[in-house]
Amino acid sequence: MIEIPVELGERRYTIAIGHGLARVLPELLGSQRRPRRIALVSGRRVFALHGALVARSLRTLGPVSPVLMPDGERFKSRKTLEALYESFLEAGLGRDSLVVALGGGVVGDVAGFAAATYMRGIDWVTVPTTLLSMVDSSIGGKVGINHPGAKNLIGAIHQPKAVVVDPTFLDTLPLREVRSGAYEILKAGILADRALFASLRQAPPGLRGWNRVHIEAAVAGACRVKADVVEKDETESGLRRVLNLGHTLGHALEAVTRYRRFTHGEAVGWGMIGAAWIARRRGLLDEAVFDAIASAVDRLGPRPRVSDLAVAQLLDALTRDKKARNGRAVFILPTAIGQVVVKGDVDRGEIKHALKVLAAREVLLEGG
Ligand code: NAD
Ligand code: MG
Repeated sequence: MIEIPVELGERRYTIAIGHGLARVLPELLGSQRRPRRIALVSGRRVFALHGALVARSLRTLGPVSPVLMPDGERFKSRKTLEALYESFLEAGLGRDSLVVALGGGVVGDVAGFAAATYMRGIDWVTVPTTLLSMVDSSIGGKVGINHPGAKNLIGAIHQPKAVVVDPTFLDTLPLREVRSGAYEILKAGILADRALFASLRQAPPGLRGWNRVHIEAAVAGACRVKADVVEKDETESGLRRVLNLGHTLGHALEAVTRYRRFTHGEAVGWGMIGAAWIARRRGLLDEAVFDAIASAVDRLGPRPRVSDLAVAQLLDALTRDKKARNGRAVFILPTAIGQVVVKGDVDRGEIKHALKVLAAREVLLEGG
């Protein structure tokens, strides 16, 4: 088992990573206050696959009430949140109870927000089941729901008491979802961990047959990077922005395709190549490092096309991004592996040029 502490003073917690950990949850949570009741919040699909094992494991800690929600981003909503409060009440959850989120980022975000607000906040633990939630959404305490008009508009920061990462769950996750999370791992490597970057460059192309030991190490590397950033900037006053590498363009790609064409990671993959290109064109990044980044992104697998998207629409989406300032998108630009700078002065010409490079790369990918 690999343990990564997240040092946040009295809100400190540990990320435990290892195959089979979901079977021994009580041992991992043993140091916590014994909960009177446990609400096990999960999606229907994940619960059908893994719920019984986790419920059995938790039962030695206290009585467990499964609380199921429908699958999908559109259920990260007020309606689901209200249904969770109802279920918590019905199950008799009190201040001394525990919410356990078993699922991907959607379940984690909603269950965590329910825990943050129910009775002004009760304890919660997250057991992520997608690669993205293992390395990203489970760490840092950001929880919330979407508003029909804007993603993640309503939320809170409520740190979990523990994060238990059991990569065995990935055995049932579709490969495309595994790859989606791997782009975020690659991002962490580019941001702050050369060894992690190198290890992903050596992972099998498209991640087919990715070795368990290597998965654990890669997950741990990415968790360490995120934990490190969160420790220094819990409330996103500055530094935490660097985690947005690849996300400026990535979010625009997701928005103009109405979140239907790309997985989040695929969009971020394109976005990382775009950001690296802008850095390279400014002379901030060596050509060889640009090539290394772009080929590492490409190695993770095929991505849906970008060349047919309207440039004007993409530029428009970029200026509407909630992180944009004075109508200009903020870009995180890599300057080396393990180093980035934040730039708010990237102009439309540079972005257009980067989009052309992405389109050309797509032809290259299809050709190869
Ligand atoms: P998700 O939660 O929608 O899960 C994707 C799909 O995989 C779902 O249909 C789910 O049922 C299925 N699934 C999950 N685990 C499985 C498993 N082991 N086997 C088979 N199927 C499985 O998607 P996600 O990518 O995990 O999370 C995306 C969400 O995370 C978004 O809402 C995003 O806003 C949020 N997010 C939050 C943070 C944060 O800091 N809180 C950070 C990044 C992303
Ligand atoms: Mg992301």
